[in-house]
Amino acid sequence: MSIKDNLMKLNEEVLELEKHSIANEKVNLIAVTKNHPVEKIKEAISCGVTDIGENRVQELKSKIEILEEDNIEVRYHLIGNLQINKVKYIYNKVSLIQSLDRIKLAREINKRALEDNININCLVQINIGQEESKFGIEYEDAERFIYDLQELNNIKIKGLMAIAPNTPDKNYLRSLFRKMFKLKNKLSEDNYENVNMKYLSMGMSSDYKIAIEEGSNMIRVGTKIFGKREY
Ligand SMILES: *Cc1c(COP(=O)(O)O)cnc(C)c1O
Repeated sequence: MSIKDNLMKLNEEVLELEKHSIANEKVNLIAVTKNHPVEKIKEAISCGVTDIGENRVQELKSKIEILEEDNIEVRYHLIGNLQINKVKYIYNKVSLIQSLDRIKLAREINKRALEDNININCLVQINIGQEESKFGIEYEDAERFIYDLQELNNIKIKGLMAIAPNTPDKNYLRSLFRKMFKLKNKLSEDNYENVNMKYLSMGMSSDYKIAIEEGSNMIRVGTKIFGKREY
């Protein structure tokens, strides 16, 4: 199947799933382009993709340079772990840093933003499966972390992000997504400074259906659009 066919099928499916979503919101699609060449990204954009996600700074940076040279407009999302010394390469290029998970990183992002007199939108990444291999803060620490972020005025928190564990256990996945939706609502009621719990970014090729049903309004899909990645 072509990228175009895959996208059409996915978009149709998402429209249907939105009707069964507990959040009852439109779902934003982030096309995850990591390990795929710029040509494929261009093809996806020509088929209506408006947002792309990359998990490595270097790869994102070089793709942005190529796409900007060709005057192609698309929103960029950093969805992978961000090292402090790499913030400078992308902070003013991305529309959303989805992997904010430590205060030192937040301070560096805020410092850069302050120097440029801009605001930077971020999602707080939660390690929902409590996996040692995964980045993100623990579920229990989310409130405290967001409380602490309030003083960093050039960081605007737009919601939460989670990567679910790789497991066939659908009930377990569902329970994790449900926890995330609850947390988002709770944090939203708390009315923190500089925080607007607009997005809940969860769901990938293998689990976006359950994620949407349980309240995701931002899915990050790679394989289902572009096929298997070649490493
Ligand atoms: C790779 C990746 C995705 C997309 O994964 P697929 O299974 O290819 O859909 C989503 N989110 C993050 C953080 C990723 O690294």
